[in-house]
Amino acid sequence: MRIEQDLKLGFKDVLFRPKRSTLKSRSQVELTREFTFKHSGRQWSGVPVIAANMDSVGSFDMALALAKHQMLTAIHKHYTVEQWQSFVTAHPEACPYVMVSTGTSDADFEKTKAILALNPDLLFICIDIANGYSEHLVQYVQRVRAAFPDKVISAGNVVTGDMVEELILAGADIVKVGIGPGSVCTTRVKTGVGYPQLSAIIECADAAHGLGGRIIGDGGCTCPGDVAKAFGGGADFVMLGGMLAGHEESGGEVIEKDGKLWMKFYGMSSQSAMDKHSGGVAQYRAAEGKTVLLPFRGPVELSVQDILGGVRSTCTYVGAAQLKELTKRTTFIRVQEQENQVFGRE
Ligand code: 5GP
Repeated sequence: MRIEQDLKLGFKDVLFRPKRSTLKSRSQVELTREFTFKHSGRQWSGVPVIAANMDSVGSFDMALALAKHQMLTAIHKHYTVEQWQSFVTAHPEACPYVMVSTGTSDADFEKTKAILALNPDLLFICIDIANGYSEHLVQYVQRVRAAFPDKVISAGNVVTGDMVEELILAGADIVKVGIGPGSVCTTRVKTGVGYPQLSAIIECADAAHGLGGRIIGDGGCTCPGDVAKAFGGGADFVMLGGMLAGHEESGGEVIEKDGKLWMKFYGMSSQSAMDKHSGGVAQYRAAEGKTVLLPFRGPVELSVQDILGGVRSTCTYVGAAQLKELTKRTTFIRVQEQENQVFGRE
């Protein structure tokens, strides 16, 4: 047994130190980034915030709403190829802003192949398993890279630099980072495994960038300030579940209770998800996600403006004219307080 003594940080442990800036207004801040990806050589430009590939977040409706802002949606993997076909035919313009999510089985491989064949503008493959430390993921990334040399492959989830490097060397352009920080995740409770998300981002970004790879900071953002901290820590992309759940476009079930509207939101390893997609929780495993009811929040547009407006404002406070510069302009200070909650949280 070993203990690592250095302290690892979450979003709640830091704030940005403001810096002198020549920017007059947040409207001067450019959030669009341009990437050229390591293996595929493909270029993509857009606002690098991604809706998570969860049932009641990564829907086709969400993709249409976010594509207007050039933001990405990782479409959850429970749509059929026929549903994909209708979407792609009706909205070819949205193709560069969606990621095709997949697990690592042979059936997943065949389905991914069928979906990608629908439109050459489908650019991103998101290979997603809860425990990215499995040798099987590395082999699957190699297989997908060999089959799709010109697609942008994201693989995860991991939280340490060694595994980021292994996945990039296996063919991933982007590595997805986060174990345990999610809003409906119970991995830390059920298994005791995890890594504070800001430190995971900082360490994994360093490892990825050294090899010309990119990372997605996935999970744990509770407010626009956390999204900015993830970018400040070095995340190239930030993936959001809970912050985009509960909206009209999320695709969840709307429930009326006590005269108010609510929407169900659940983790993809929760009992709810396994009941829906796998006929219940298998005997050998425990659910590692929870189910919550969120107040129904209406169209996602206002939340998107709130998130992007917040990140723009962060950039003006530290003097970053472009999102790309944010990490270079970031000094985090360690803190023991965040917002004043005397009147509750917004
Ligand atoms: P959030 O933005 O809600 O904090 O986190 C979203 C992320 O949580 C997802 O992108 C995914 O990585 C993770 N996640 C989603 N469902 C589950 C689950 O059931 N269990 C665990 N451990 N993580 C989940």
